[in-house]
Amino acid sequence: MTHHGGQFINGHWVRSGSVTFDAVNPATGEKIGSSFAQATAEEIEAALAAAVTAHIQMRELEPEHVATFIEAVASELMALGDEWLQVASAESGLSIKPRLEGERARTCGQLNLFASVVREGSWREARIDTALPNRQPLPRPDLRMSLEALGPVVIFDASNFPLGFGACGNDMASAIAAGCPVIIKSHTLHPGTNELAARAVATAMEKTKFPKGAFSLLQGSGREVGASLVKHPKTAAVGFTGSESGGRALFDLASARPLPIPVYAEMGSLNPLIIMPGATNTRSEVLAKGLAQSLLLGAGQFCTKPGLIFLLETEATDAFIKSLTQEVSAANSLTLLGKTMQDALSKVTQSMEAVSGVSKLISGKPSGYAGHSACLYMVESSVWKSQSNLHCEAFGPAGVIVRVKNLSDLLECLQCIPGTLTATLHHGEGDHANDLKNIVASLSIRAGRVIFNGFPTGVEVSHAMMHGGPYPATTQSLFTSVGTQAIKRFARPVCYQNIPERFLPPTLHNANLLKVMRLVNGEYTRDAIS
Ligand code: NAP
Repeated sequence: MTHHGGQFINGHWVRSGSVTFDAVNPATGEKIGSSFAQATAEEIEAALAAAVTAHIQMRELEPEHVATFIEAVASELMALGDEWLQVASAESGLSIKPRLEGERARTCGQLNLFASVVREGSWREARIDTALPNRQPLPRPDLRMSLEALGPVVIFDASNFPLGFGACGNDMASAIAAGCPVIIKSHTLHPGTNELAARAVATAMEKTKFPKGAFSLLQGSGREVGASLVKHPKTAAVGFTGSESGGRALFDLASARPLPIPVYAEMGSLNPLIIMPGATNTRSEVLAKGLAQSLLLGAGQFCTKPGLIFLLETEATDAFIKSLTQEVSAANSLTLLGKTMQDALSKVTQSMEAVSGVSKLISGKPSGYAGHSACLYMVESSVWKSQSNLHCEAFGPAGVIVRVKNLSDLLECLQCIPGTLTATLHHGEGDHANDLKNIVASLSIRAGRVIFNGFPTGVEVSHAMMHGGPYPATTQSLFTSVGTQAIKRFARPVCYQNIPERFLPPTLHNANLLKVMRLVNGEYTRDAIS
């Protein structure tokens, strides 16, 4: 690929900065192509000015127009062909088949799903309380409320899903669907992948005559370009996927602004997985195989990786640990997304290994430029509970098994778990329903998604998905970053009181031409108001 290496702003490619950086192949450590230029202060200003204009223009668009644009982005991403996958693979070390092919399908499916949400329209949660002029002792005014776009959204795309959480990933799709222009702070680990995605957006914009300021892509460092974008007074909200330290830094920056704004940061997670005696006793080998696959998927670089395994003691425990160890050790040295991931993983695993009482079942090592072999540790619950450096996420192919004596010991362990994206419970014959109920109650307080007899790594893009959770899984536990409900992050309720119909958004008109579901005088209906 011959790339431009600059910024995409207001429908044009520009490159004026003198600070540059390179894309690097994590498998070889070699530089890929020519350098990328970091966005300048003027370019940042231009992207936000264009976004403010686009926000006003987008308010006037028919839902059909927005939906058509989103679908066009999906089509143009597919039209990029193999080149997009090849560049993403070179920049991330992820395989083209099946990984990136699957991720591309997910990305386009996600865009098409949001297009259908926009067309259907009920996401605006319209509520209408018609006037009661004769009510005593006071009349009721006409009140009409619906969700409206927040304004320009800055998006920090994720390193570990260069397509699905990339420049045209879930944050972009949900923000555009809500009617918000987006400015992507492109991840420095995959600038070329994002440049190609922006080219697809540019073509989709041309073909559908979509406002040009609705999508900008800026390259450069998080601490410089990213921080400037978050602090900028024209930014209305931030979407982020990445580390706890990065997400927290941006959340603090946004909170310290004279006018604080919401930061929807999806960050690290322990994703505890509990194995009850009924599961170990009845399907030990199948479970070990499935768990190893989930743990090592994408070289363990999934925010939903089940990195913490609570194993209740039974006569089959040792055999299970042996099977799991065999399955995990079969993985050869894995290429991580970049050198930063290798350094971070080495640091975390060294601090875990330094804890007295931690057994190294598989002691992983860094290799090459950004490689690392798998690590598996085992510890008694009493040690785990007392050692907070065993409570942090090891992002990569690493897991910790905690041997738990009984139910009350397990419930005590669960109290030490910080907010998490997922929590999984494996059970089987002989496990008591009441025990399972107690465990589920404890897990649902801490996790965004609770899973029975499965693995957390797959995150379905659908209506009922919750990909979020209490801090530090996210900075906003009320929202999901995956699935159609993600649109709610970028809209806020506005109530219109006694406003003539011609000044109202179409969703609140009496006729309800789009037939959206509305709460009218306390009853859900798609009917018009007569
Ligand atoms: P990251 O370092 O948090 O970076 C994500 C984005 O935020 C990047 O665009 C980055 O800019 C920016 N950023 C990071 N810290 C910032 C700060 N203090 N101020 C302003 N912007 C900032 O996440 P990552 O690159 O995905 O992973 C890096 C490390 O995070 C890994 O070593 C891993 O251990 C850990 N981690 C990642 C995830 C995940 O789901 N991705 C989950 C858990 C842990 P740059 O482009 O300049 O880096």
